[in-house]
Amino acid sequence: MRANCWTGKRSVEVRDVPDPTILNRRDAIVEISSTAICGSDLHLYNGFIPTMRDGDVLGHEFMGEVVEVGRGVENLSVGDRVVVPFPIACGVCGACERGMTALCENSNPNAGIAEKLMGHSPAALFGYSHMLGGYPGGQAEYARVPFADFGALKVDDLPDDKVLFLSDIFPTGYMGADMAEVGPGDVVAVWGAGPVGQFAIASCFLRGAERVIAIDRFDYRLRLAEQTGAETLDYEQVSVPEALTEMTGGRGPDKCIDAVGMEAHHAAGALHAYDRAKQATGLETDRPHVLREAVMSCANGGIVSVIGVYGGFTDKFPMGSFMNRYLTMRAGQCHVHRYMPRLLEHVGNGDIDPSFVVTHRMSLDDAPTGYRTFLEKVDGCEKVVLTP
Ligand code: NAD
Ligand code: ZN
Ligand code: ZN
Repeated sequence: MRANCWTGKRSVEVRDVPDPTILNRRDAIVEISSTAICGSDLHLYNGFIPTMRDGDVLGHEFMGEVVEVGRGVENLSVGDRVVVPFPIACGVCGACERGMTALCENSNPNAGIAEKLMGHSPAALFGYSHMLGGYPGGQAEYARVPFADFGALKVDDLPDDKVLFLSDIFPTGYMGADMAEVGPGDVVAVWGAGPVGQFAIASCFLRGAERVIAIDRFDYRLRLAEQTGAETLDYEQVSVPEALTEMTGGRGPDKCIDAVGMEAHHAAGALHAYDRAKQATGLETDRPHVLREAVMSCANGGIVSVIGVYGGFTDKFPMGSFMNRYLTMRAGQCHVHRYMPRLLEHVGNGDIDPSFVVTHRMSLDDAPTGYRTFLEKVDGCEKVVLTP
């Protein structure tokens, strides 16, 4: 089959690779109808996530038709249309039982590598390094889905565009709002108006937020956020902490969501040069500019919710501000399984049409162009969907 492979820093290639086969009784094979490129893929593309190897099949946002099931899969049949969550989860371990499927204790065969870096291993993810399982991803014609009886969500006849993002970015944005306990009356600031930020904004409004302030530097992304009802700040034009203080009567936003992560960009200045140099030389793995701003901007007693991905260690974390002002921080890869059913209901009810982020459609063979366009944020690119 054809599959989009990681071949080194800033390099992907669509290659012929072996077809996946059923290996375990709870596996299913899915013929992929739609797959997308994620901001998380850009961290791999830019070489910031360790333990990638030449030829690794990328992709963790995908859906399609079940073409084969293992003997242990009783709730799926050949021909079912399914969306697959990006974390691989067994459904029966302690973490899964508590709904924390991104921390499944049974899916990562390479947990030992992750433990060295993080202390304990989270769940494996599709197409996301050997440290996180080494599973081939879904930017391909077919994928093997482990624990398919627990993970794959049947979507009946809803069109791909409306349900594909249940695999990741819609639940992730929603979890950003959920971790921040966003509710009626809240003023929320969201850093990053990429696809994840857009779904965080939409989710804040679904949960009754009063105001959402979106922060980015790409005008077309801020315009999209405005269409969802957000106010906007261009961080190249203003000092974000000062502007947020001013917009909130001096208190700061009640909730702050980081939808940017480890590759945050700075308008200018010494701190960006410092972070870039430390990241380049391996003294710091992540550039925590947004994290620092979110902590410093958040109202006293507020919540900082981190859905942007971080890989290792950060520097100059404002611990004094965090401690003295009774802030709370929550962070995590998304427990997609937990949120999928309720978000599918929102889509079915017409509360939201997730296809609003799609700007580019390409064939799987054009994945290299898709990665470049999405990375460089050119041609008004918000989200790229690939069709095998
Ligand atoms: P993206 O690259 O399209 O968007 C990131 C946006 O952040 C860009 O628009 C960029 O201009 C903006 N940005 C950069 N520096 C900024 C700054 N200093 N202030 C404000 N905005 C800034 O990526 P995406 O697909 O939207 O993903 C965003 C993040 O979410 C990534 O880190 C990705 O890995 C992560 N993610 C996490 C999960 C999870 O489960 N937690 C799931 C999916 C994606
Ligand atoms: Zn993703
Ligand atoms: Zn589990």
